[in-house]
Amino acid sequence: MAEPGADTPQVGAIDFEPATSRLRPGPLGVEWIHGSVSAKHNTDPDIQVHWYDEHTVILRQNKAIDYEAPFLFLLFGNARAVLIDTGATEAPDLFPLRATVDGLVTEWQDRHLRDDYDLVVLHTHTHHDHVAGDGQFGDRASTRVVPASLSDVYGYLGLTDDLDRPARLDLGGRELDCIASPGHDSAAITFYDAFTGILLTGDTVYPGRLYVRDWPAFVATVDRLVAFADERPVSHILGCHIEMTTTPGVDYPVRTTYQPDEPPLEMSVAQLRDLHRAVGEVGDRPGRYVYPDFVIEHLGGDIDV
Ligand SMILES: [Zn+2]
Ligand SMILES: [Zn+2]
Repeated sequence: MAEPGADTPQVGAIDFEPATSRLRPGPLGVEWIHGSVSAKHNTDPDIQVHWYDEHTVILRQNKAIDYEAPFLFLLFGNARAVLIDTGATEAPDLFPLRATVDGLVTEWQDRHLRDDYDLVVLHTHTHHDHVAGDGQFGDRASTRVVPASLSDVYGYLGLTDDLDRPARLDLGGRELDCIASPGHDSAAITFYDAFTGILLTGDTVYPGRLYVRDWPAFVATVDRLVAFADERPVSHILGCHIEMTTTPGVDYPVRTTYQPDEPPLEMSVAQLRDLHRAVGEVGDRPGRYVYPDFVIEHLGGDIDV
């Protein structure tokens, strides 16, 4: 059956059943904005919007607004959408996240004929470059902003001390597994979307510098993610930054605002296994450990990054 056109309104419940045959490993097929030689003369959009599929949006913040240029994710279910992370900048005039998300939600609602529709704002972790835009959603109707702190997010999702038991978040027929992922940040969460097979790993796994504050917790988290990926189809592992170059083992310096030679955002389960092996090699010894697709920065204590 042909997919209905994007401009044909869709009535009734959308079937978000996990469909292994629909998973699309392969490249995302998008060129991300990646800064410019002169930030002042940057002509990219403030926020890049990429529709991964009809119900899934990946956004990237412009490097000229903040060098971190984090990725954010907007997933639509039958009853509500979830926005995962709110970027690195508070001010809506510099970083119009609220307006962008409102436009995307309206577009989706129009396409699928939903009047009552909620938005939940969650986070991959507590760091500033992932929560800065929260305030833009404070007065939004039908919206729940869940603070990123451990007690708030564990309470909302129903996570417990048993970190090996993921919690479920139901968007209305579309369910996310929420996996405790401490190590980079104690409150870090990995989200798995069975509909697309995407694993959203925040700053825990991405093509860049993996800053580890709590080594034993990080080891357990990587074990947990590998075990999870063993049991589920994973199409892409999407973290929140790109810091490597296309040259294996070479990363861009911190605060780089022009990255013409970025590798793709998406990583594979094979690369997650590479990380698993690397973590075993490094052991609990603070230092910087360079691998082709990532760098492990074992900070050896409670250092704030
Ligand atoms: Zn972080
Ligand atoms: Zn970050």
